[in-house]
Amino acid sequence: KIQKYNNFICEIINQDFIKNKDLLFHTRFPPEPNGYLHIGHAKSICLNFELAKIYKGKCNLRFDDTNPLKENIKYINAIQYDIHWLGYNYDNTCYSSQYFSKLYQYAKELIKKGLAYVDQLTKEQIREYRGSLKQPGRNSPYRNRTIKENMQLFSKMKKGEFHEGEACLRAKIDMNSSFIIMRDPVLYRIIFSEHHQTKKKWCIYPMYDFAHCLSDSIEGITHSLCTLEFQDNKCLYNWILKNTSVTQYPQQYEFSRLNLEFSLLSKRKIKILIEKNIIKGWNDPRISTLSGLRRRGYTPSSIKEFCHKIGITKQNNLIEFSMLEHCIRTEMNKTAIRTMAVLEPIKIFLYNLDENYEEKLIIPNHPNNPELGTHEIIFTNIIYIERSDFKEKYDKKYKRLKIGEEIRLRYAYVIKAEKIDKDEYDNIISIICYCDITTLGRKPKNKKNPSVIHWIAIKNSFPAEFRLYHQLFKIKNPEQTEDFLSYINPDSLVIKKGFIEKNIAKKIQKEMHIKNKKIFFQFERVGYFCLDNIDSKKNKLIFNRTVHLRDSWNL
Ligand code: ATP
Ligand code: MG
Ligand code: MG
Repeated sequence: KIQKYNNFICEIINQDFIKNKDLLFHTRFPPEPNGYLHIGHAKSICLNFELAKIYKGKCNLRFDDTNPLKENIKYINAIQYDIHWLGYNYDNTCYSSQYFSKLYQYAKELIKKGLAYVDQLTKEQIREYRGSLKQPGRNSPYRNRTIKENMQLFSKMKKGEFHEGEACLRAKIDMNSSFIIMRDPVLYRIIFSEHHQTKKKWCIYPMYDFAHCLSDSIEGITHSLCTLEFQDNKCLYNWILKNTSVTQYPQQYEFSRLNLEFSLLSKRKIKILIEKNIIKGWNDPRISTLSGLRRRGYTPSSIKEFCHKIGITKQNNLIEFSMLEHCIRTEMNKTAIRTMAVLEPIKIFLYNLDENYEEKLIIPNHPNNPELGTHEIIFTNIIYIERSDFKEKYDKKYKRLKIGEEIRLRYAYVIKAEKIDKDEYDNIISIICYCDITTLGRKPKNKKNPSVIHWIAIKNSFPAEFRLYHQLFKIKNPEQTEDFLSYINPDSLVIKKGFIEKNIAKKIQKEMHIKNKKIFFQFERVGYFCLDNIDSKKNKLIFNRTVHLRDSWNL
């Protein structure tokens, strides 16, 4: 009965249910609050929450907050906002820091069993003693301290009687293990820094590997899903659970992380882009954070559809950016109202129309969904068209407006360009055209159909800014190199100042203050756009191009 979501993890869970039909299925999503969520996190969120739904279980949000130096309450709030935005509700909000006292007890258990010791090598020495894949590790000279001595020293660490880096707690496992992670991993280190949750209560903090498995166990997590790079950590995960007095044994399973073309997903690297002022913040529409994608015009449903399409496997690969674009385009194609906008205007003067000529035209909001209604536009003797829709120099192949040739104005008439009006500096003031008023909805006599371009009557125009985004990097996998700053595309943001239809502008002005209201359009022939709800003001409407009209994803 569980066919909707099908991946190798589902097969494992199905088997688990066969073994135990009363299994209380429980997952968690465990972000560290040291940055904003990105599209890679969305993959993990969708997996954990969808599985909880399918198997009638639960999913916790757990902040993996064991490093006060990097964490911040603002990230906690942003993470919660983004998960709700995606449409998921967690069963519990947990913090690893809630368990600090319990974790401390478990650490003492290990010491009492002779399975942990206080080490006083420096950080660098620890690294050196650990060896490498080719080289066995060496025991620390502090490895054979007595249990009593270790208990006393660990207590001293907790009381703040050591300086940072002067002592740490390590598991006593095997300095020759083929898993480097098992060569006496550090379990606790000293950090004198106030924690956003526990304030000044602690100056020793558990390491990720120690806190993670125990937090999973404390919360009753049954399936602990993580990305492939934690494969080796699993032996430590299981070792800690086996050697402490826990009663719940979660199982860790790994899947491949999402790598997306042209995208940097590492929080550390995103922070560098922000610090260097290459992007304007975590919600810059050029990066694949959830807040950036939201501002760019992506919807929760398009992101979930994307996560569903990429699936869950153990293969590491680089996903095409066009696949993500395909998901939002397909959705906006169905839902976006069509309207005209001119991004880089040039004036057309229709000399055979009276200067008071004004015709109202009713145009459909969507070409094949009449339920989306219609709206009114005005046709007059002076209009704007796109500068790129006119070519001054004769070009036989050019299919849009040129001198002596005809073109159709979308929803209106066929016009013929006759002359260019220029100022003394050779700049075009307007293109003087003849308007064939017999051609509304009708072919010009004895001729084939001309191409169609979009336009706005000056009288019906309202100024707007358009932000056109291009990939931030000139290479497909900036994540792969530490030198990603050398591959920044200087033209990732192009700003155009043009016009939208006045009626549409009025409607936007009424709606733009409604909370969480997403205002989006297809600007005909130009692309799908959404109102930038951060920088826009009533009299300064700004639109972000979400995606091009053309689909480049190979289906
Ligand atoms: P970073 O390296 O940028 O700090 P992280 O993996 O440390 O990222 P966390 O906040 O610890 O970020 O991640 C929370 C959860 O999201 C983890 O379970 C992690 O495996 C998952 N996750 C993070 N990035 C991706 C990704 N690119 N694809 C799939 N899952 C991811
Ligand atoms: Mg991290
Ligand atoms: Mg992490």
